[in-house]
Amino acid sequence: MQRFWIGNGINKNKQMVEHLQHYGVISSMKVAEVMETIDRALFVPDGASAYVDSPMAIGYNATISAPHMHATCLQLLEQNLQPGMHALDVGSGTGYLTACFAIMVGPQGRAVGVEHIPELVASSIKNIEKSTAAPLLKEGSLSVHAGDGRQGWPECAPYDAIHVGAAAPEIPQALLDQLKPGGRMVIPVGNMFQDLKVVDKNMDGSISIRSETSVRYVPLTSRDAQLRGY
Ligand code: SAH
Repeated sequence: MQRFWIGNGINKNKQMVEHLQHYGVISSMKVAEVMETIDRALFVPDGASAYVDSPMAIGYNATISAPHMHATCLQLLEQNLQPGMHALDVGSGTGYLTACFAIMVGPQGRAVGVEHIPELVASSIKNIEKSTAAPLLKEGSLSVHAGDGRQGWPECAPYDAIHVGAAAPEIPQALLDQLKPGGRMVIPVGNMFQDLKVVDKNMDGSISIRSETSVRYVPLTSRDAQLRGY
């Protein structure tokens, strides 16, 4: 697994962001700002070393992605997370990226998380309530829902940005349908070997797909399969 640093001595969120800039993972000021604003420590299990560049177990056979993966996805989606835009976070887990999306699209935009483990939905809402995204949750531009994310979240479609935080065997059609022309989806695709795919819906509705990098995510699957351990 790729890892840019180990967390010894890194105990501050800002330093984590500076590392990501130093290693070239973050080049955008906006992405740096949002990752500074949303403190990762509020989203990892109590006592876990929040700023280590590593995924971490969050229960229910799920993980919070490593900081460099969160940063990579924010960078890839930056143009589609402008104020007023709509963003969907499938497999929202801890709620970390949903909170980042909400800050970027702002109060006139819409950030929606969909997660199929109800306990994670509940804990993600608690995490967000402690973060700087709390007012957006209260005012309703940010929401997290329990559901099968393979179906997307039609109520707030179409989306400028869709992020999928779990690896799909193939790109779900419902998510393609809910992507706006000009919209972008970032989704890990594969089983054992996975690629982070960047899926652009062109203005004429056609789809362009490229592979960004090899990744290792938990599967986008049914709740039963996940709780059985896949
Ligand atoms: N971006 C999240 C990633 C969590 S791991 C974070 O960094 O916190 C992937 C998440 O996808 C898990 O929480 C898992 O429960 C969820 N998941 C897997 N399959 C799903 C599905 N079909 N519908 C909704 N959520 C799903």
